[in-house]
Amino acid sequence: MITTDVLIIGAGAAGLMCAAQAGYRGKSVVVVDMGKKPARKVLISGGGRCNFTNENAAPENYLCQNPHFVKSALSRYSAQDFIELVDRHGLNYHHKTLGQLFCDDSAQDIVDILMTECEWAGVQVNLRTEVLSVSKIDNDSEEGFIVKTSDKNYQCQSLVVASGGLTMPKLGASPIGYKIAEQFELSVLETIAALVPFTLHDHDKQRFEGLSGISLATEVTSENGVTFKENILFTHRGLSGPAILQISSFWRAGQAVTINLLPEHNLSETLNQWQSEQGQKSVKNLLSTLLPKRFVEVLVKDGVIADKPIKQLNHPEISALSEYLHSWRIKPNGTEGYRTAEVTLGGVDTDELSSKTFESKKQPGLFFIGEVIDVTGWLGGYNFQFCWASGYACGLAVR
Ligand SMILES: Cc1cc2nc3c(=O)[nH]c(=O)nc-3n(C[C@H](O)[C@H](O)[C@H](O)COP(=O)(O)OP(=O)(O)OC[C@H]3O[C@@H](n4cnc5c(N)ncnc54)[C@H](O)[C@@H]3O)c2cc1C
Repeated sequence: MITTDVLIIGAGAAGLMCAAQAGYRGKSVVVVDMGKKPARKVLISGGGRCNFTNENAAPENYLCQNPHFVKSALSRYSAQDFIELVDRHGLNYHHKTLGQLFCDDSAQDIVDILMTECEWAGVQVNLRTEVLSVSKIDNDSEEGFIVKTSDKNYQCQSLVVASGGLTMPKLGASPIGYKIAEQFELSVLETIAALVPFTLHDHDKQRFEGLSGISLATEVTSENGVTFKENILFTHRGLSGPAILQISSFWRAGQAVTINLLPEHNLSETLNQWQSEQGQKSVKNLLSTLLPKRFVEVLVKDGVIADKPIKQLNHPEISALSEYLHSWRIKPNGTEGYRTAEVTLGGVDTDELSSKTFESKKQPGLFFIGEVIDVTGWLGGYNFQFCWASGYACGLAVR
């Protein structure tokens, strides 16, 4: 049995950040992870360049049953704090749109920074080590937890669960964090794959199957009125792209999404103008100057776009076409699920945790951080920022 102050389950973004902070405070810290490499999700994130934070990260960018829960951690460890950390390590990075920061070279640079911090803080990271069970020490002279793994067994004062969510089972996703929470009678909210592409019903799939690879600048709105103005992408199975991934977190089975295909135009006005200036040209050819030709062709085939000169459109037809393209309603069949999702919605109920320390209110010494808890960020570096912030806060609190 190895004794340590702090045992952390999961060498991901949250676990490694927490480990370094606790180590710098003089705690003995062991991180265990069943993977061959640390932080495998960091490595594949952001298309291999890791969108490691978002300069605008604020509580509004997170879904959580208690919208106030993230405030404390985000204010104590902001995007600027993480930027200062990567600057100290000399990371080369760049700004993309909407406050997103990406590595210039490779996501490996972020993993190297985290592992260097852990090394400087004296943290031991044990890979290829699967946690099998956890139990509370139940006698008067000692307190803490026993953690049995596929390798050694550990005794610790503080047990930090940073085991992530259910996405990408190939990368070691496991439900162990939820199981530990339930074992200690903490409530766990239903989990759903989020930031995930939509699949379409067969008839829509057939309609749009030739459009795979086409990307459009749109504005997508969920049934509960949340809107994202970003691109959508037709895939061979359905719809993806940043706007779809964003809205998937707000979509529930059976609902539709509304897509404004021409957010920068007032189509009625444009159609009227075309009628007076280019009346002989076909509706199809004129609309193909605003939308991808192949998409327009599908709508012509469906009878949505009349195949005739624009001057022949009457007022009701102009209104109907304009309404259709500004409010295109599509009902997804489902999502691609945990296999391709970026995050897991739901998880350990934040009502069970202190928002300052991430310690369980019911079970002193037991902490949950990162994606395993019911906090889900938007697409754009928000999820890593919550991992850094929750890991930091917890690292300062473990005993
Ligand atoms: C393809 C993809 C791209 C993404 N891109 C971005 C991005 O650019 N920006 C962004 O902010 N977010 C991104 N995300 C989301 C982000 O990766 C996650 O929110 C984040 O990695 C969660 O970190 P975590 O530390 O909570 O958990 P994880 O990174 O999932 O780490 C948990 C660790 O626990 C280990 N573990 C689980 N069970 C056990 C067990 N029984 N025993 C031992 N170890 C165990 C796992 O092996 C894993 O290493 C992306 C996600 C995906 C899937």
